[in-house]
Amino acid sequence: MSTHYETLGVAKDATGQEIKSAYRKLARKLHPDVNPSQDAAEQFKLVTRAYEVLSDEQKRANYDATGDENGNGQQGFGGGGFGGFGDIFEQFFGGAGGQQGPMSRTQPGRDALITVTIDLEDAVKGTVYPLEMESAVTCKVCNGSCCREGTSPVTCSICHGAGQVQRPVRSFLGQMMTVETCAACRGYGTTIPDPCVECNGEGRVREHVSKQLNIPAGVASGTRIQLRGQGEAGPGGGPNGNLFVEIDVRRHKIFERDHNDLHAKMSLPMTAAALGCELKLETFDGEQTVNVESGAQDGDTVTLPGLGVPRLRGGKRGDIVVHLQVVTPTKLDAAQRDLLEQLAKLRGEEMTAGQVEQSGGMFARLRDKLHQR
Ligand SMILES: [Zn+2]
Ligand SMILES: [Zn+2]
Repeated sequence: MSTHYETLGVAKDATGQEIKSAYRKLARKLHPDVNPSQDAAEQFKLVTRAYEVLSDEQKRANYDATGDENGNGQQGFGGGGFGGFGDIFEQFFGGAGGQQGPMSRTQPGRDALITVTIDLEDAVKGTVYPLEMESAVTCKVCNGSCCREGTSPVTCSICHGAGQVQRPVRSFLGQMMTVETCAACRGYGTTIPDPCVECNGEGRVREHVSKQLNIPAGVASGTRIQLRGQGEAGPGGGPNGNLFVEIDVRRHKIFERDHNDLHAKMSLPMTAAALGCELKLETFDGEQTVNVESGAQDGDTVTLPGLGVPRLRGGKRGDIVVHLQVVTPTKLDAAQRDLLEQLAKLRGEEMTAGQVEQSGGMFARLRDKLHQR
């Protein structure tokens, strides 16, 4: 493979001016508008890339030091190498570089994204959600042909169907021909003399669309459901894009979700915690009994296995975890105070000062509590 210097036919110590004039001479000979052969086109690309690197002081220095073809100090063709080529091509010869032939009126439709908000119960059980949305659908009057019934597109009289026109421009290379999108047909190569009135010749219309969306059990906020081919219809009868539905789950007044577990807080009086009791909790599977064993402490948890959220693609459900909050009685009347004092005496708990806990125990409890949040 030749070096960039050899490609341009200049010496390694050529000045910027020498490089520029060498490129100008070669470009005049090889530019696709002057020389339509495939060979010339390939050669023109090489010459232009060589010029792009050698005309930029930084890139030239990198090229001299590393031999990297793109002059950006990294080996290989990855990254922006050809971006630079495009830039310089357009700088000299105008846009539309490389695009050949007319554009199709039939284009694929865009993807669409909508968000639906559901309750936690729907995420646990799954649901059918009535989707209501605006979308582009293929025009039923012309079936996407864009033409009024019985008519069809005609070849553009300006570009004769090419979709592009050539225009002479002056550049430092002298007079060049540049290729531009035909303004008369906007690049389609055809015009529609009698467009469909329903869609104004676009082949699609915006419409209100209703559909039933199956939301599987186990979804969470941020879950995206993809509906292939249910996005916007493309212009000119083009295929539909995809529809993405993003799920947002409302906060629940009792349960807080952590992955597939559901956490709830329940408070109970100190006496109930000491004696043990059964609490009632309304869940998505009906009322359940939460068994509190005697001697339960504040912050203890009771697990109801398998009553949480199912895994999204089938599989077992998470748990419900109940966090107990033990409430100490306040506003004791004389009789209650008397009973508690008797209890304290019986238990040998007549303390005047709190007992100092070992640091390990206290910090472990604190840590557990934080962890449970
Ligand atoms: Zn139409
Ligand atoms: Zn045209």
